[in-house]
Amino acid sequence: MKQFEVPTFYRSSILARVKAIRKELDPRKKDFSPTEVNLGSFTFILGRHFGFCYGVENAIERSYKAIAENPGKRIFLLSQMIHNPAVNEDLRANGIEFLQDTQGNQLINFEELSSSDVVLIPAFGTTIKTQNILENLGIDVKTYNTTCPFVEKVWNRSQKLAQGDHTIIIHGKFDHEETKATFSHAQQNGHVLIIKNIQEAAFLAQCIRQEKTRDEFEFFFKRKFTPGFNPSVHLRKIGVVNQTTMLASETQQITEFLRNTLISVYGAENINKHMADTRDTLCYATNDNQTSTLQLLEQRADLAIVVGGYNSSNTTHLVELLDQNFNTYFIKDASEIKGNDISHYNIHHKEMQFKKDFLSNEKRQRIVITSGASCPDSILEDVIKNILKIRYKDQEINELINNFKA
Ligand code: SF4
Repeated sequence: MKQFEVPTFYRSSILARVKAIRKELDPRKKDFSPTEVNLGSFTFILGRHFGFCYGVENAIERSYKAIAENPGKRIFLLSQMIHNPAVNEDLRANGIEFLQDTQGNQLINFEELSSSDVVLIPAFGTTIKTQNILENLGIDVKTYNTTCPFVEKVWNRSQKLAQGDHTIIIHGKFDHEETKATFSHAQQNGHVLIIKNIQEAAFLAQCIRQEKTRDEFEFFFKRKFTPGFNPSVHLRKIGVVNQTTMLASETQQITEFLRNTLISVYGAENINKHMADTRDTLCYATNDNQTSTLQLLEQRADLAIVVGGYNSSNTTHLVELLDQNFNTYFIKDASEIKGNDISHYNIHHKEMQFKKDFLSNEKRQRIVITSGASCPDSILEDVIKNILKIRYKDQEINELINNFKA
């Protein structure tokens, strides 16, 4: 796997050591069991895979290259580079401005750009419409296009499938930048529908079986399908792809469910004519992070902490998983822990909550801790240090970290 030049302030010496030890013992990453790091009276249970993925490191490396290679020029990012507030703030501090917010609202009008400006395309990619607007303004959209190659793989596969008369079903969130971009690329050659979860797949199955009218289909899915989509025609041959940060297990569940629906209509012997095998489009990093998190679920722990941006899709899914077994706190960074109190984001109520004395006084505390694909390891290390501060002085923390054993 390629090594990227990411600013050193995003790295963590302790977590780099943990990753290096695991890599040496298991270079092909076949063992997804967690790593236990004992620091004083705390045991931190870390996932086998956590933090920056390939696409995020690539995007950050190229953003900093754009800054270094274009002194004196205006540099813009189409929208948030990745869903991590600290990383986006660092880019802003280096002079990069954002053209749109996460919802696609314009912060700076495209008309204000000129051909001498540098525009970065974020890791999720962008729609063909936006790409055309920028190109028509004379802006180079290729040099600093940081679209992740694994997202492009989904687009390419979708386009090929659509050319073969498959309708593309995207398992994703309708308003997520990546899903909008995938929708835009897939619809070049055919019809596309976005579904969010297994409940929506169940409604879709009724449409496949022609138990729902076109009006019912349109009312249920609203603006989530291509113009002219006729469910009685365009659901005979499908391929399922995903927003790469969705739960891979849910995508597989939806795919299997729709496959069984098509088998019930057309027979097992004909299934290959009605459904494409798209398993190879699932992102390896999302898969690794979620598989590692599933293994964390089997651990004995007092609580779990997930670190990442509150608008990060992949991080939210890690919280959903850990929430099944642990009292789980979702925090953006170490500043959310003050003494033994924690401010955390509740994904169910979509609001910040406060917990006083979140760590008990029991002598040994076992804490499951992990981070999303857009969270720098340095932030995770700061969180670990803030937890250590509840019981140790700075000097003792340095000694614990210097002498830790994984
Ligand atoms: S999660 Fe996967 S597809 Fe998304 S940026 Fe990371 S490596 Fe690329």
